[in-house]
Amino acid sequence: MFNTHEIYLDENATTRVQPAAAKAAQQVMEESYGNPSSSHITGLRAKQLLEKTRNLASKILNANNHNVIFTSGATEAIQTAILSTLHHLQKTRTQTSDTPRLLLYSATEHKAVPQALKHWNDVLQIGNEVRAIPVDSNGQLDLDFIKQHAPNADMICTMAVNNETGVITNLNQIDSLIRQQPNHILWLADCVQALGKLPIDLTELSIDYVALSGHKVYAPKGIGMLIANKNAPLTPLIAGGGQEQGLRSGTENLPGVAALGAILNEYVTKENNTFRTHDQLIKFRLAFINSLTKAFPRIVLNTPINCAVPTTINFCVDGFTSKEIMDLFDAADLRVSSGSACGSALVASYVLEAMGLPQWQTEGAIRLSFGPAITQAQVDAACKRIEDAGNSLAASCLSISATHNLDFPQTMNGIIQLKKGSMCSWILYDEPTKNCIIIDPFDEFLERIQMFVQCKKANVLAVLDTHGHVDHKSPRPLLIEMLKDYTTADAVNANYLGWPENPSGTVQLAQDNSTAQYIRFTQNQILVGTDLPGHTKDHQGYLLGYNKNEKQFTPQNVKFAILGDLIQIGGIGRSDFPASTPEVLLQTLRRLPNLIQEHTIICPTHDYSNGFATTLAAELKDNPFLIKTLDTLLPITLEDFLHEKKQIDAQITDATNCELVCGRIQHADPDASQIIVKPDQLKKFFQEHKTATLIDVREPHEFSFTQNWSSYGLETPPENIPLTRFSNFLERALAKENPIGDIILLCRSGNRSGKAAQVLRRLGKKNVWNIAGGIALSNATQEPDTELCYTI
Ligand code: PLP
Repeated sequence: MFNTHEIYLDENATTRVQPAAAKAAQQVMEESYGNPSSSHITGLRAKQLLEKTRNLASKILNANNHNVIFTSGATEAIQTAILSTLHHLQKTRTQTSDTPRLLLYSATEHKAVPQALKHWNDVLQIGNEVRAIPVDSNGQLDLDFIKQHAPNADMICTMAVNNETGVITNLNQIDSLIRQQPNHILWLADCVQALGKLPIDLTELSIDYVALSGHKVYAPKGIGMLIANKNAPLTPLIAGGGQEQGLRSGTENLPGVAALGAILNEYVTKENNTFRTHDQLIKFRLAFINSLTKAFPRIVLNTPINCAVPTTINFCVDGFTSKEIMDLFDAADLRVSSGSACGSALVASYVLEAMGLPQWQTEGAIRLSFGPAITQAQVDAACKRIEDAGNSLAASCLSISATHNLDFPQTMNGIIQLKKGSMCSWILYDEPTKNCIIIDPFDEFLERIQMFVQCKKANVLAVLDTHGHVDHKSPRPLLIEMLKDYTTADAVNANYLGWPENPSGTVQLAQDNSTAQYIRFTQNQILVGTDLPGHTKDHQGYLLGYNKNEKQFTPQNVKFAILGDLIQIGGIGRSDFPASTPEVLLQTLRRLPNLIQEHTIICPTHDYSNGFATTLAAELKDNPFLIKTLDTLLPITLEDFLHEKKQIDAQITDATNCELVCGRIQHADPDASQIIVKPDQLKKFFQEHKTATLIDVREPHEFSFTQNWSSYGLETPPENIPLTRFSNFLERALAKENPIGDIILLCRSGNRSGKAAQVLRRLGKKNVWNIAGGIALSNATQEPDTELCYTI
């Protein structure tokens, strides 16, 4: 289960080959390497091995009246069972019936089953209806549905144990239901996840086909079995040399068969020490659930434990996406999966959807699975690691952990971006004073903001909206209530956008000759509020910058401009809402160069193009309409501006986006050029770029788990600038004074750092590299390539 530091808890996806199995395979590859079809002694010995494993399988399943056929895995076994059934139907069907004949499968079945049913139904032109049997919220099959449809069913496919949830199907119930029918419904049972965890007795069950897989039970990949009742039809999927009694041609995978045999032998040998008893596994599950609950007090189990095998725990953590939990676990070197391994790329779990779970659960599911060979020591180590992961999250002020002391959170100075889909909320936070201002809170982030404020014991100076949002009611009043122990009087005594009735003072916006109110954020920094109407009448912009009580506030003072929907990445906020004032938008836009510099970081409320933040310079590069609008030599007329803006807004299609699109996004230059450095070339890179800065963009709770940076060829750890605080780095990187030289970005897989590199390049920083493959592919043991690889 362990590979150095890694703790592997994804054994429903696949397992590490047990030493006894590896030894058996090795022995076959080196010594008993004969072809079981050869008639000489070497061949006979190989054949004996084949039969030994076959007999063991028969013994374990009480498969006395069955053919045991070796396959490449369960998927092939499933194909053969379905092909055999449908081919039999094709041969024996005499008349067409008025009611469509059915091929039933449980809605939570592994994809191999419905896909194979549809495929062979199509290929053989059977014309049956492939229909899912619904399940209830516990994943249990709808028996009434089966009873109702059984008279019209030619085949039924059920699974003994579900791979995502561990839910057990009561096969005896299915048996008695379908065998009440006058016709014999051919029955395929996928027992892949049951083998070694639950007894399967084929003398008690009238299953026609059982599919099994070696790599789920500590044998290698590429070996599986179809166990077919001798009365069930069998059509070979692969024809050829006639191996496996002509039922599956092709020279047998003898190393795989021998390895599987070694595992099956361990199962039948009662005094073996390899596998734990059911009761021990239940105890281990409890230990895992205890640790998970300590680490994530808001954990929700997606299946009641009494419905599932003890080796699978499917859960969600309220307030977190599965990606966030996966990233955390991966950083802690704990391997779990989101949903099923084959489905990791999908957003929602179809199994949990079939169980009718709410979207946040179907999308946020994490599966922790172990096998019967797990030991007490491994469980202890894994539980400790899970609790460490929870503590790390708590130290990042993202969660409360039962074992973490909230008095020691991480330092998190600056501007923090909370982002989900296109929605961005911003938190300004100053660690020394604990002063905090929240801008444009979205419902989705309220609990996270509350957690942050509580954890930091922050002084909330203001909760601001940039404008009355058109598409949603602001949760500002609710958030004020949620933060009531942390808000200052000014945060409460404020107008409907949150601007205090008694602000700290006023400044003169130097190049604009206007005065504006401000909130003093720190001794040296103020947040200036100024009217920027257009997108809506009431639209405000908030400028954070240096000011120690000077009367004037110049563009050079501004560090961050939180401009709501006025400027978006690759676009200008739309102005066709009833609350919009397009005729004043032109003046507002023309005001911008008087308020901020070309390289001031603009923080938008929506980020449709995954650009995080932007600058006026980058927008002017990408957006011809903005260029025209700000052109002072040949100024656009108001009439032309309104005409063109109307045309641009008319092209916005909300239907293509689940959120209301608040501005037309022009083609933003994604600067997709790959500038990558291979992990094993880092040392050489640093020799050639002596002043390069290495930055890890993972969140601190992930970063804190990587300790041994020397194994990546690094003498000192990288700086940790997480994507949630990346705008702080953008400001630093684009600053004219003390410019940063070469930058190398790093994360877990190279994906987030790749995005960050694109953002930097889009904003004009060209000497940026990304470590391809990230931490996942980096380690000192890799063979160095001959040449440093970076291409533009
Ligand atoms: N059935 C179930 C329940 C599984 O979990 C899997 C593997 O993910 C399969 C079938 C497919 O098995 P194999 O990888 O051996 O083809």
